[in-house]
Amino acid sequence: MSSIIRLDKLKKEYPVGKDFITALSDINLEIEAGEIFGIIGASGAGKSTLVRCLNLLEKPSDGHVYFEDVDLATLGAKELNKARQSISMIFQQFNLLMQRNVLKNVMFPMEIAKVPKEERKKRAMELLELVGLSDKAKVYPAQLSGGQKQRVAIARALANNPKVLLCDEATSALDPTTTREVLQLIKEINQKLGITVVIITHEMMVIESICNRVAIIAESRIAEIGAVKDIFAKPATEAGRRLVYPDGERNIDFGNSRCIRIVFDGRSSFEPVIANMILDCKEPVNIIYANTKNINGTATGEMVIQLAKDDKVFDKVFAYLKARNLSVEEVKGYVE
Ligand code: ADP
Repeated sequence: MSSIIRLDKLKKEYPVGKDFITALSDINLEIEAGEIFGIIGASGAGKSTLVRCLNLLEKPSDGHVYFEDVDLATLGAKELNKARQSISMIFQQFNLLMQRNVLKNVMFPMEIAKVPKEERKKRAMELLELVGLSDKAKVYPAQLSGGQKQRVAIARALANNPKVLLCDEATSALDPTTTREVLQLIKEINQKLGITVVIITHEMMVIESICNRVAIIAESRIAEIGAVKDIFAKPATEAGRRLVYPDGERNIDFGNSRCIRIVFDGRSSFEPVIANMILDCKEPVNIIYANTKNINGTATGEMVIQLAKDDKVFDKVFAYLKARNLSVEEVKGYVE
């Protein structure tokens, strides 16, 4: 794979009075052609700024944005527009044209690109078929549900054959079921059309559902970057932990006991491991948290077990689990 987007020491500052706010600092990352790459971070972390820098809607204060190995800052207006057409976007609020029907919304970018009328109608109908809305061509956006509106926005974003689809909090206004459906559609588009997808979100669930790799942004910097499965199994930073652990779990009071977090990666099942461990180690454990997920088709789960406050017991159980090739770590420090 080769990188389609590369950011090199990207920095963005906004002037605020006589001072500056640093929204992005020392951002280095490569997005590979054909992958689904996630960018996650809490509100104010710098995600929107990063997205706007990707297609140079926002001019970086320092550093470079490369698209297909070309530094976007070196392009003239015409070439930059062409590059921008290759990087399409969908948004949280859909941004549809309310006075135009669905078909005409999808045709709109082709009008701007001066595609002949018959051709744009044909292509728009094909795209509506792709997103499952052929029967809504003549309907106006106000008559559509949120999920349907986002489907129209996706069809419109694909109109000029982009190479990259940027999804900026594209499912944040949708309910969980509709979110899953829209994410599934985005995944299909990635697979069928080979379009590189960049997902910007504050929700770990979105990343887990469809992304191959993820960059975690915290306080204007990349805290962690890697395969979703690896980061989920063992977040290396505080920012990573905060995203991987659901809100509820952080409220659990671990007290003085020692706890182990076990990550199952689909190679072993939960019941026998825990049951056998109790039988073999002859130590009682308290399961204080358990959660299973489906990440890219692989069943993955995590469990936090609490042990008696005795280092020997801890070492024995820890060694037992490690010997079974499970990813284990002691957890305590992240309780807020
Ligand atoms: P996120 O999308 O992760 O919520 P943003 O990129 O919107 O984060 O913001 C990152 C930081 O930059 C925040 O502190 C925000 O207040 C600041 N910021 C964003 N846009 C502007 C702007 N146009 N002017 C001044 N500060 C801004």
